[in-house]
Amino acid sequence: MKRINLHKAKDQIARLNTIRDINRQIVLNYVRDQSPISRAEIARQTDLHRSTVSVIVDQLVDDGTIEEIGAGVSTGGRKPTLYRITSGEPAAIAIDLTPRTTTIALADLAGNILEKETFSTSPDLEFMSSQILDRVKKLTECNGNGGLEIGFSVPGLVDQRTGEIFHVPYFDWRNWDICSRIESETGSNITVENDANATALAELWFGHEKVRKTDTFLMILVSEGIGTGIVFDGQVYRGEKGAGGEFGHMIAGDDAPVDCSCGSRECWEAYSSEKALLARYRALLAGDSMKQGSVEVADIIELAINGEKHASEALKSTVRYLANGISNLIVGLSPQVVVVSGRVTRAWDLIESEMNRVAERSVLAGLPPTVLLPSSLGDSPTLIGAIGLVLARKFGAAAL
Ligand SMILES: [Zn+2]
Repeated sequence: MKRINLHKAKDQIARLNTIRDINRQIVLNYVRDQSPISRAEIARQTDLHRSTVSVIVDQLVDDGTIEEIGAGVSTGGRKPTLYRITSGEPAAIAIDLTPRTTTIALADLAGNILEKETFSTSPDLEFMSSQILDRVKKLTECNGNGGLEIGFSVPGLVDQRTGEIFHVPYFDWRNWDICSRIESETGSNITVENDANATALAELWFGHEKVRKTDTFLMILVSEGIGTGIVFDGQVYRGEKGAGGEFGHMIAGDDAPVDCSCGSRECWEAYSSEKALLARYRALLAGDSMKQGSVEVADIIELAINGEKHASEALKSTVRYLANGISNLIVGLSPQVVVVSGRVTRAWDLIESEMNRVAERSVLAGLPPTVLLPSSLGDSPTLIGAIGLVLARKFGAAAL
């Protein structure tokens, strides 16, 4: 049970069609999760009346959300028609801005990427605004103006409710008005979200089965910085003005190998992000500029996997700090699952024992066990996150 907040009563009051909306979303999610599925099977699993399911299925077929995919096996009478989420038709535009590259993709309702384009991210804010606007406009024009919804993942502080982007620390961009410009020039709805929160949503909708089946988990995104997404009770916890989950800036010591994006040398991010890994590796090669070359994070991870001494040592120290921070979060928040996302998970075989030490530590402290998993979303979790922002609006239900 949840206390009714009278200050928000206007938003929460039950509308006449509230029950109809909830039933529609339940049927839609059965089709998404268990397709191919028939009307009779949905009715059996939901306990909804057959005629109610039929009316909803007809509406979902009419509006193009689900499609027929042939007949199933007969259990005596007529062969049942089977349904799935409509695939192959453009339904969402995803914008994934990262400090190095920006990707704009077209996706269908099932989350499949139909086409995508990646270009370098520039620190020039006005240039980036026009780069993004031009491409998004082209995609919306080719796919029925205003018909596609847009999801936008940003490595910074945003207000998801108003679409405001307050701060992108990596480039020190402030009060970026790109969302209102996209909306007014394309007529499409846009949902903007912090990259870690978007990735947490992607885990909830597309992630490992153990993650999708849990209501409460943490997602740790290891990239240039450290992002954390908190999912409580099946929804992302955003905190006031979307600033929740900024654990990357919790204090982890006072002698980090590199500056945090906020300028401090005390933050968890400065100890356990990709840039900390890079700094440690470079320090181990100190004095030999020939050896340093233009080594990248992906190279260090690959070298460590192949057993190279310095890369292994740099990865080991970085993961030790990463694991210590995760341990603190487990002790404080007691999630069922923690998902780690980012390129370091390519070396999961090497880092798994350190991660499990952390999980076992909380069990020793008398807490329920937490499962630690590498993300199953591949190398572009924030792009999947941007798609997830649109799909969460289509498949989710308003909190009751
Ligand atoms: Zn910081």
